[in-house]
Amino acid sequence: MSVATDKVVVVDHPLVQHKLGLMRDESTSTHLFRELVDEVTLLLTYEATKEFATEELEVDTPLERTTVQKISGKKVAVCPILRAGLGMLDGVLTLISGARVGFIGLYRDEETLQPVEYYVKLPQDVADRDVILLDPMLATGRSSAAAVSAVKSAGARSVTLVCLVAAPEGIEHLQSEHPDVRIVTAAVDRGLNERGYIVPGLGDAGDRLYGTK
Ligand code: URA
Repeated sequence: MSVATDKVVVVDHPLVQHKLGLMRDESTSTHLFRELVDEVTLLLTYEATKEFATEELEVDTPLERTTVQKISGKKVAVCPILRAGLGMLDGVLTLISGARVGFIGLYRDEETLQPVEYYVKLPQDVADRDVILLDPMLATGRSSAAAVSAVKSAGARSVTLVCLVAAPEGIEHLQSEHPDVRIVTAAVDRGLNERGYIVPGLGDAGDRLYGTK
């Protein structure tokens, strides 16, 4: 189940919301947090790919010939934004094992809140692929917008951002720079605090994934 506006899909499935609640809880361990990110990303991917076109194909079951559906020629590039986006990668690859993987290294300057690019490695044929960008927290939207610019510079024409939690400010910023990009998220929170963190949010996703704080 999902709540959809034009380009923003909030997945309010009970499993997603239950797991998101556990992720928000500061007493959740690093180990469990990582598992939850994996599971929620898998569920969000299910939603993010629901418009994939299918075509019919004939197969023989052990009993008779029948018509089945096959995803038609879709090629996917999944691109985590380092470092927190890495925690979401396996959740996508579990469902789309043939996806190529690109990496976008951005960090947020804590003073200016501006994204700084330090590494970009994308599949060569990214222009022919549907790009799924992974960034757990759509906060100011600047990193995500910079990542979208990076994949578009390489030729990408179809981009979906999958995140765990989005702030209205981030959605607005991303849509103002890239109105064509679809956003799939588990929640849209109240806003940002003075340090650029999403509130109520779940804290620093990278630190919680990797136990660095
Ligand atoms: N990045 C995070 O990890 N958490 C936030 O709340 C905002 C940006």
